[in-house]
Amino acid sequence: MTAPITQDVLTIPRKMPASDKANLIGLTRDQLRSALIDAGTPEKQAKMRVGQIWTWLYHWGLRDFTGMTNLSKELRQTLADRFSIEIPEVVTRQISSDGTRKYLVRIAGGHEVEVVYIPETDRGTLCISSQVGCTLTCSFCHTGTQKLVRNLTAGEIVGQVMLARDDLDEWPVQGEPNREGRLISNVVLMGMGEPLYNFENVRVGLRVIMDNEGIALGRRRITLSTSGVVPEIARTANEIGCLLAVSFHATTDEVRDQLVPINKKWNIATLLDALRAYPGLTNSERITFEYVMLQGVNDSKEDAYRLVELIRGIPAKINLIPFNEWPGAPYKRSSGNRIHAFADIIHDAGYASPIRTPRGEDIMAACGQLKSATEKTRKVRA
Ligand code: SAH
Ligand code: SF4
Repeated sequence: MTAPITQDVLTIPRKMPASDKANLIGLTRDQLRSALIDAGTPEKQAKMRVGQIWTWLYHWGLRDFTGMTNLSKELRQTLADRFSIEIPEVVTRQISSDGTRKYLVRIAGGHEVEVVYIPETDRGTLCISSQVGCTLTCSFCHTGTQKLVRNLTAGEIVGQVMLARDDLDEWPVQGEPNREGRLISNVVLMGMGEPLYNFENVRVGLRVIMDNEGIALGRRRITLSTSGVVPEIARTANEIGCLLAVSFHATTDEVRDQLVPINKKWNIATLLDALRAYPGLTNSERITFEYVMLQGVNDSKEDAYRLVELIRGIPAKINLIPFNEWPGAPYKRSSGNRIHAFADIIHDAGYASPIRTPRGEDIMAACGQLKSATEKTRKVRA
């Protein structure tokens, strides 16, 4: 299954413990404005200062107030006294033989999450996490075997993009206009956790990432993947505006109850109703149905025909994900023939049915394999 391990493991030295100053990363523009006014900025100037600081933080990627040269020396000092600019700390970086990079990232409280960068010829996708662990217990997902530790803050969500930009050396440099590479052209919330169970922080974080005067990633370049938290689905379109992917994975409630237990709360029919009503659904903004291919469980031709019937009328793309095995996993990956036969049926019914190429398998960076190291160590000790 795995490519030869030619990974480069980098262990980054520990930094000083985080300060107790208020962190500016992950604040909305309004929150930043209030923070500046509290720190003595006259209300009349506040909007302009927000714009200036925002550009330093999110366009240039600056991490200290000293370099904010369009602010007075006094203001820079005040800011440095009151605030910090902090993003999660990279503990280790592994580079797969296929170029995929996996970062183990430490957040406040000593918890860890994983972030994965997947370079492709025409794009570069950053897969970020929304929670440490997950409350849901999908039976094929490694993260699902780990209890929820906590939700990530908005700053930690934005920070994952910022630390990857640091590592890829992707921030623009003044005086080098052609440098803007866009190595990270897409962001997917397909790492650890259920993003719609951390809606507020995910919304704020994504809006910071999309903001035009900063990182400026277009809303159609961000995909949020949910296991099917029905009440929050419409809000994703209305309040965030990014694209939606749904972990569908089965064509009967009986099987989906087993694979994606949230189905017992919101079953297939309820989920499909919510998807049919998804605001702004068009052919150019289709819903991605993720479908993990598990040998003998959900990969029959009957399943493929049922799937086509179920989603009829929904502008959709079906992303077939060959199961990524992990130690102790109770399933096997479907054979290549099975996956192709399944894909053909869906394709013949008029839907795009790409088969996702597993990436970074030698460093356990593939979809659904992410799990924090602290948790693993705890298990070993137990
Ligand atoms: N909690 C969200 C997002 C994170 S999981 C969700 O469930 O949608 C991202 C995707 O990886 C989901 O489609 C999930 O079902 C899939 N996945 C999880 N474990 C996997 C595995 N071992 N192999 C392949 N895909 C997996
Ligand atoms: Fe949680 Fe998604 Fe994994 Fe299910 S597939 S356990 S919702 S991270």
